[in-house]
Amino acid sequence: MHDVVILGAGPAGLTAAIYAARANHAPVVITGPLFGGQLALTTEVENFPGFPDGVLGPELMELMKRQAERFGAEIRIGDVTDVELTHSPLQMTLNGELIETKSLIIATGASARLLDVPGESEFFGRGVSTCATCDGFFYRDKTVAVVGGGDSAVEEGTFLTRYASKVFLVHRRDRLRASQILQDRARQNDKIDFIWDTVVEEIIGDADKGVTTARLRNVKTGAEEEMQVEGVFLAIGHVPNTKVFEGQLKLDEQGYIVTDSRMHTNIQGVFACGDCQDHIYRQAITAAGTGCVAAMEAEKFLAEVEGRAYPA
Ligand code: NAP
Repeated sequence: MHDVVILGAGPAGLTAAIYAARANHAPVVITGPLFGGQLALTTEVENFPGFPDGVLGPELMELMKRQAERFGAEIRIGDVTDVELTHSPLQMTLNGELIETKSLIIATGASARLLDVPGESEFFGRGVSTCATCDGFFYRDKTVAVVGGGDSAVEEGTFLTRYASKVFLVHRRDRLRASQILQDRARQNDKIDFIWDTVVEEIIGDADKGVTTARLRNVKTGAEEEMQVEGVFLAIGHVPNTKVFEGQLKLDEQGYIVTDSRMHTNIQGVFACGDCQDHIYRQAITAAGTGCVAAMEAEKFLAEVEGRAYPA
């Protein structure tokens, strides 16, 4: 029986692990499918305090992991199934093994949203990508499209110009929601062309070459166009990784876990932090902050059920 199990090993989960470990709870961190969460798929992080020269996303996550392990956190690879939160102890299965815990911190993050158009799943990994950092290298001297108008789309579009000969930024409106500094960088980049008011209707390719064409539609004029591209990078936001909790935890209409300001969910002893409960800020630093709150609240909860004073 564990005191604290933490689901997810991004900035929220690993910060929770550091705090829970320093409170002597020997937390078990179950990584989920991607150690490091979305930062594992990022290059340079320029806005995490304490790194004036920037830090690589995967490196930042490795540092957080080492910090958590130093105080006794155990990192386990895998994804839980059969989560049972309606009685105590809380239960879940990891790789066939039953795990029981007095408290649970959910930090399962969010995953890239997909367009749900013909060709997208067929060519996923063969021209369709949700990670410019991971796949950009394969598009040297090629033409690619990036879909979206937020920070991710503009940042990934700019990043892809390191490799691609041309980057078309396809956005469904006529103005970006990306921050000004990223917009300015992209607008000054000769390799980037913006295609406004336009959606991707279909991704076309063939078995040998992968993606060859994106069929586009202008939402204002209705005009259709076929654009020759060898890659389509999707940067249209994320969906929370909360499916396994459906029917047990209170979720909002988009699937984010509903928490109060102290990261409590609707179930006693179950806390949520980071991008699985935050659809507004979604930054590494805010995820880390809510991870800290969740761990401190879990410690308070454990003190209460064990009849200890808090703080000890
Ligand atoms: P986002 O801000 O939610 O932007 C998603 C973009 O995709 C929007 O422009 C949206 O269009 C478009 N979109 C959504 N669904 C679509 C669909 N079905 N078809 C076509 N377009 C669609 O997501 P994000 O860019 O991933 O950013 C998420 C968070 O991470 C933000 O808080 C952002 O500031 C942060 N972030 C920060 C940095 C940085 O600071 N360096 C880098 C990356 C991300 P509309 O504009 O029309 O809604």
